Amino acid sequence: MSENKRYKTQVINDEILEKLSLDNRYNFVNDNLRVILTDKQLNFLKQVQDFCVNYEAKNKITHGPNEDVYEWYPDFGKEGYITRQTPYSCIDLNYEDYGMAIEFMRILALDNFDPQFAMGSGATVICINPIYAHHEDVPERLEALKELVTGQVVGCLLMTEPERGSDAVHQLTTCDEQEDGSFLLNGTKIFNTNAPKSKWAIAYATAEKNQGNLLGQFLINTSWEGWNCERVGIPWTPKLYIGKETLNNLKVPKEYVLGGIGKGREHLFEGLIPERIAIAVRCISACWGALAHAVIYANMRKQFDREILLFQGVGFSLADLWAKTTALTHGVLKFAEIYDEKHEKYGDLPDPIAQSMVNSASQYKYICANLAKKVCFEAANLMGGAGVCDNTLMHDYISVSRILEVVGGTKQIQQFIMSRGLKRLFKNL
Ligand SMILES: Cc1cc2nc3c(=O)[nH]c(=O)nc-3n(C[C@H](O)[C@H](O)[C@H](O)COP(=O)(O)OP(=O)(O)OC[C@H]3O[C@@H](n4cnc5c(N)ncnc54)[C@H](O)[C@@H]3O)c2cc1C
Repeated sequence: MSENKRYKTQVINDEILEKLSLDNRYNFVNDNLRVILTDKQLNFLKQVQDFCVNYEAKNKITHGPNEDVYEWYPDFGKEGYITRQTPYSCIDLNYEDYGMAIEFMRILALDNFDPQFAMGSGATVICINPIYAHHEDVPERLEALKELVTGQVVGCLLMTEPERGSDAVHQLTTCDEQEDGSFLLNGTKIFNTNAPKSKWAIAYATAEKNQGNLLGQFLINTSWEGWNCERVGIPWTPKLYIGKETLNNLKVPKEYVLGGIGKGREHLFEGLIPERIAIAVRCISACWGALAHAVIYANMRKQFDREILLFQGVGFSLADLWAKTTALTHGVLKFAEIYDEKHEKYGDLPDPIAQSMVNSASQYKYICANLAKKVCFEAANLMGGAGVCDNTLMHDYISVSRILEVVGGTKQIQQFIMSRGLKRLFKNL
């Protein structure tokens, strides 16, 4: 197999493979979304799509197993396509197009281009968000922020521990404050996307084990002494580097303490709303990516002398997946727009609005992950053998949708958060 070949053996015929080009898949998505997007959203979406199409052609990217998605960061960063949640004026980027709805467009374009790359860059974004929120104009933090947002380096978030996954608040990693205001961190973290490739990491640790109210939040340079990282094997996303880190008396100077003891819990919860909306968007993007493949394929593949789309078993099933994807796209986009509106109006969200957003972010993460799992799997099945071989991105969609169920809180945890929300609503009556 040559270095940059996508597949071992061609299974799908030339004509269909050609039709499954990124350009055509983007056109399919755009034809579906044109009516519901604002001009600004559609223009930005097309701008990122054009970049991806040209980038793929120019660099002869096949999305084959030998490509290193981490090499693409600086090129996407230069264009401002690592994140668009805010204008990043504090580091002089001043993006004109920004906000959660614009971020939706960015993720959609990147995910259709390469789902594993989109997932990895999402982990850099959850490293960026807390630095942006708590940089307080400290030069060291701003420097890290600029490197990350512009894609010069990769970032990661260290919340999960070997013994503390869903129960993220009761951490075992400790932070001991020193006289000079620095902290010593000790403990083990796990399942941290990008960690083995990252320059910067955000970590949570507590002054006393299991005490959620004593959590702090820290920015770590992974070249510091005391950082030890191994790669965890996740067969579903072979191009991503997921880490297990042992922090051994790792000293965090005070300039890098984003939240001292007691502040970490609040920082942890504020980060969860944008993280979960972004995961919901990635789920929706995976649905569109899988549908674009299956719809093109089913319109061209013939069995019994007819295009398979014309058999009800295929055509009606695709129609069902298409309807559900469209409806949820409308919902998530509206929610992203509301999130932008409220932030524009209030800056920091008042408590009742933030509480309502926590519930909605969980609802969308929950329902979109559920849909992505179904759409990606069913769409691949509707393509028969072509849907499970290595000729297209379908296996990435199935794999990534499997992971999207787990990250950012499993479905049971989203149900748990939502059921608590129902209790709170009842108390208000
Ligand atoms: C590929 C990948 C990438 C990841 N990236 C990151 C990252 O970048 N940063 C990071 O910090 N973490 C990351 N994670 C970790 C992820 O967030 C956790 O795996 C997840 O929160 C679940 O924790 P756990 O694996 O310890 O499972 P556990 O918490 O042990 O859960 C096991 C099972 O028990 C269920 N369960 C647990 N508690 C309850 C409850 N109260 N009610 C009902 N059911 C419950 C869960 O739903 C699950 O089904 C990643 C994980 C994966 C697989």
